[in-house]
Amino acid sequence: MPEIKVLTKILEANETIARENRKIFNKKKISVINLMSGPGAGKTTLLEKTIKELKDKIKIGVIEGDISTSMDAERIKRFNTEVVQINTESIGGECHIDANMIKNVLPQLNLDKIELLIIENVGNLVCPAEFNVGEDKKVMILSVTEGDDKPLKYPLMFHVCQLLLINKIDLLPFCDFDLDNLKKNALRINPQLEIIKISAKTGEGLEQWNNWLINLWKKYK
Ligand code: MG
Ligand code: ZN
Repeated sequence: MPEIKVLTKILEANETIARENRKIFNKKKISVINLMSGPGAGKTTLLEKTIKELKDKIKIGVIEGDISTSMDAERIKRFNTEVVQINTESIGGECHIDANMIKNVLPQLNLDKIELLIIENVGNLVCPAEFNVGEDKKVMILSVTEGDDKPLKYPLMFHVCQLLLINKIDLLPFCDFDLDNLKKNALRINPQLEIIKISAKTGEGLEQWNNWLINLWKKYK
């Protein structure tokens, strides 16, 4: 079978399972975020800050995706959050999370204790964009240290996301990062894309991000 047909089949099968996951989330009234970025953009650090700020208001659960370690899940566990680790290495070394992986770990989470489920995808700007997992929203993080050329290099990621978080904004003065150029190129690919500038380190912009999550969470309230 030609390669392109194989890929189409894989993505079709993934869609079917993503819809099944969605049914479960709807039934349990869980809002779901698929959080994606390149390695080191700050997904886990942002998650820690987010949980700290919102855990008294919203029951948050986390699925940590990583190729081989459970370091990020250990960081999240400290907050007494429902968390489960997916190590893609043990299931074929995949560089992304797919719907079936999510389906398989859901029994390990107490879904009655979760109102907002955040899936930290494997650090990669390419294939995670192709695999729906049954989420409500796709959110990507781009840090200013990565460069403003990323929309042109990874257009699909910018195309499929509803929200772009520009992280490490405190480092902007030290980086060769043209914010206007980034926005222009990102919005050319996806005119509906919301953009929030944040620094998970200094806290800048986090209130806006938390409010964005609260609005999503309210869907089932
Ligand atoms: Mg991480
Ligand atoms: Zn992949």
